[in-house]
Amino acid sequence: MPYQAEYIWLDGNEPTQQLRSKTKIVPNEVSELPIWGFDGSSTNQATGEHSDCVLKPVFTCPDPLRGGKNVLVMCEVLDADTMKPHATNTRAAAAKVAKKYAKYEMWFGLEQEYTMLRADGTPLGFPEGGGFPGPQGPYYCGVGTDRIQGRDIVEIHTQACLDAGLSISGTNAEVMPGQWEFQIGPLGVLEVSDQLQIARWLLHRIAEDFDIIISLDAKPVKGDWNGAGCHTNFSTNEMRNAYAPIDAACKAIGKKWELHVKNYGHDIESRLTGLHETAPWNKFSYGVSDRGASIRIPWQVKKDGKGYAEDRRPNGNCDPYVVTRLITDTVCSDAAAG
Ligand code: ADP
Ligand code: MN
Ligand code: MN
Ligand code: MN
Repeated sequence: MPYQAEYIWLDGNEPTQQLRSKTKIVPNEVSELPIWGFDGSSTNQATGEHSDCVLKPVFTCPDPLRGGKNVLVMCEVLDADTMKPHATNTRAAAAKVAKKYAKYEMWFGLEQEYTMLRADGTPLGFPEGGGFPGPQGPYYCGVGTDRIQGRDIVEIHTQACLDAGLSISGTNAEVMPGQWEFQIGPLGVLEVSDQLQIARWLLHRIAEDFDIIISLDAKPVKGDWNGAGCHTNFSTNEMRNAYAPIDAACKAIGKKWELHVKNYGHDIESRLTGLHETAPWNKFSYGVSDRGASIRIPWQVKKDGKGYAEDRRPNGNCDPYVVTRLITDTVCSDAAAG
């Protein structure tokens, strides 16, 4: 029996690339998934006269929604003429840096926050037709109808990630009503990023069945409402064995704070205001247990004298290939320089 392979890629949408996918029917006897193509003129990746783009499978997992032999396939986009990475392909650059610094054994844990919206754009938990719910406080990790919205989607999504074999490490309800988080990791640069993209795709897809929109926007509601981040936990093998390399890594990132912030997702200034458990976007700091710092070193890490650090700045709408590449490049080049 032929089976279905869902080829997933990132389009050329500005300012934030969006997920796209289409289904290939694969004969049972095919042993390796082939490259495929799509119309780049419909995804802001090519012009109409010269429209073909190439999909190169890079990560495959079981499709937990279709079941059976069906699979999900994360792809890189290549230019059809040159068969080189397309301008919108940020994974290729991440692959190079991951290879260059492989001996540091970088691990990442990504905390993906997101907001569930009704079809009219209002967040779940906010009154239909306008207005606001009670102020933030009771919603984070809450339970009960007056505090929690959308848990049915979260339950299905979490089990789907597990069934797909993804390294999902937890979920929680967030500070703003309708806002949730799941974590992927710890895994290497490419693994964590590919898995996050698949997990995002599954979330969007599952929410379709509930007529709910998943927003990764950094600040979906202005004012006294938390934004959505993608806290990025990271460690080298040296950081997992001693404290000094953790301190050095934070300092190295501090020296390049602006390069990092500019690449941590669209509309980051709206989210990193210095309020709502954030540091101001233009003022770098790091500290133990400090949720108002750019980078937090967990209390337990300080106590153990080894472990990891958490860059709290990346947005929910960040590109994980860009974020993990930058952190790897900055931390490992500094470590290599001694
Ligand atoms: P928080 O307390 O900030 O909410 P979470 O529990 O949501 O933290 O997320 C922490 C993430 O860090 C998890 O995805 C976890 O797998 C990851 N993590 C744990 N240890 C390491 C490590 N040594 N290096 C990188 N990531 C790690
Ligand atoms: Mn978390
Ligand atoms: Mn969170
Ligand atoms: Mn966190």
